[in-house]
Amino acid sequence: MEDLLNELKRIAKENGLNFYLHTHTDQKLMIPKKIVLHTYGVQRQQSAKTISEYVTSSGLYAHIYINCDKFNYLLIEQMPERRAVHCGVGNVDSIGIELNEKDGDVIVSERTQKVANLVVDALNNFYGQLPIFTHRDITGKNCPFQLRNLSASRVLLQKIP
Ligand SMILES: [Zn+2]
Repeated sequence: MEDLLNELKRIAKENGLNFYLHTHTDQKLMIPKKIVLHTYGVQRQQSAKTISEYVTSSGLYAHIYINCDKFNYLLIEQMPERRAVHCGVGNVDSIGIELNEKDGDVIVSERTQKVANLVVDALNNFYGQLPIFTHRDITGKNCPFQLRNLSASRVLLQKIP
């Protein structure tokens, strides 16, 4: 797990992002079987501090938050070997990644996509190849907002926008 954490730190550093680690050790352990993508901050950027305060008060969070636009951070809110609360029935075996929507555009910027792909590579190197789903695939929620008309795959993630 330390290797994965170091790799995520390296990705943050190489892409000019602040790295934050804020985990919830009361959560149950799990074996990740898939990755679930989300987007957050529709027309509104959120700092790592705001996210952490929100998840602490609401109990709702994904594992990883990526913002490469206004705030520039990679936030680990929960280490991937522990459950997070992000997609209903999928919580038991999935790693949740939140991609920031670019301010005003409601799109995921190319830079955010690039870092997301590096993070997915790091997770796959550690856990083995994990299939990618969207929040919508799992629960029907309109999330990720931008990807709502597409089925999830790594290829599509690379193609957006
Ligand atoms: Zn979502």
